[in-house]
Amino acid sequence: MKIAVIGAGITGMSCAWLLARQGHDVSLFEQNGTPGGHSNTVDVPGRGAHPLPVDTGFIVYNAATYPNLVALFDHLDVPTQASDMSFAVTLDRGKLEYSGTNLAGMFAQKRNLLSPTTT
Ligand SMILES: Cc1cc2nc3c(=O)[nH]c(=O)nc-3n(C[C@H](O)[C@H](O)[C@H](O)COP(=O)(O)OP(=O)(O)OC[C@H]3O[C@@H](n4cnc5c(N)ncnc54)[C@H](O)[C@@H]3O)c2cc1C
Repeated sequence: MKIAVIGAGITGMSCAWLLARQGHDVSLFEQNGTPGGHSNTVDVPGRGAHPLPVDTGFIVYNAATYPNLVALFDHLDVPTQASDMSFAVTLDRGKLEYSGTNLAGMFAQKRNLLSPTTT
């Protein structure tokens, strides 16, 4: 069957790859100059001479809820690294700051315990 897949993000590329493996005649269309969609790695200046590659789209996954992605990484021999997932916010030059790690992080600024309007 002739099949057009629109968009070369992880979804489109995975579909196109799987369909092509099943013998379909697949054309993949992408409006941007590069494939990957949100999944993109950008080099930013790091410490020392080497730039630091930062993943903007796919940062974390876990084996329990991403079995297909894990299988794809295994098949393509994509290296991954154990990590934790953290979240932190700083607003108005540090006026409001919190992190999602635990309760202490939510109230990193103790004055906010008595300031329910600071949201
Ligand atoms: C900042 C950020 C962090 C994220 N972190 C994580 C994470 O840690 N873990 C995780 O699992 N997920 C994460 N995600 C989500 C993950 O990146 C997305 O779910 C995934 O990349 C979506 O893939 P997709 O192929 O469905 O869509 P997209 O990546 O959006 O790809 C769609 C593609 O289709 C193209 N397109 C659209 N319309 C047309 C058209 N008419 N013609 C041609 N091409 C077209 C677009 O240009 C694009 O390339 C994150 C997303 C963002 C933005």
